[in-house]
Amino acid sequence: KTFEELGVIEIIREACEAMNFKKPTPIQTQAIPYALEGRDVMGFAATGSGKTAAFAIPVLQSLYQQPSPLFCCVLVPTRELAHQISEQFQALGSSMGVRCAVIIGGEDTMQQSLALSKKPHIIVATPGRLLDHLEKTKGFNLRSLKFLVLDEADRLLDMDFKEPITKILNVIPKERRTFLFSATPSKEVEQLQRASLSNPVRVSV
Ligand code: AMP
Repeated sequence: KTFEELGVIEIIREACEAMNFKKPTPIQTQAIPYALEGRDVMGFAATGSGKTAAFAIPVLQSLYQQPSPLFCCVLVPTRELAHQISEQFQALGSSMGVRCAVIIGGEDTMQQSLALSKKPHIIVATPGRLLDHLEKTKGFNLRSLKFLVLDEADRLLDMDFKEPITKILNVIPKERRTFLFSATPSKEVEQLQRASLSNPVRVSV
């Protein structure tokens, strides 16, 4: 199948071409149509499968159709992954003027507060640092969030991010959409899925 056949709009197809994505990867072929239909998606796929674009494309397509600040938050286990994901959002959304902020531990909190005050469309964050900002940064909240992505959920849980994630889930809208990706299924991932997704479609490669 082509990106067009999956329902991806032209402005994003052009960005895919510019990134040399000639055709969708298997996880993209499976996940994107459901995500564009409005379903929550639980995907089992490893790094290297193209899972980032599998969630970034539907999020950006929805953002393009109904732009609003603080649109999507992606929670990730590591700083490196946060930067990689932000770069893919930026590349795929370059001609839509998408603004991303990376909010991770080990970097300057003041600068991050400033970045958040500019109301980016996409926040890519490690859970602990995002929670710090939700608790301490004046004027910052995620009450208008439309999408939550839990990426590498198995590693998020291995790294003891369950508590900050639970607290974050308590302060974001229940009516949002959620995507969860994990390399492997597990009991803990299932628990997180039940706490965060609504009637999800399961896809795996
Ligand atoms: P990920 O699994 O999201 O970490 O992606 C792995 C790599 O595959 C990244 O460098 C992406 O830029 C690239 N990629 C993602 N989707 C495609 C595609 N449809 N065609 C070619 N490369 C892709």
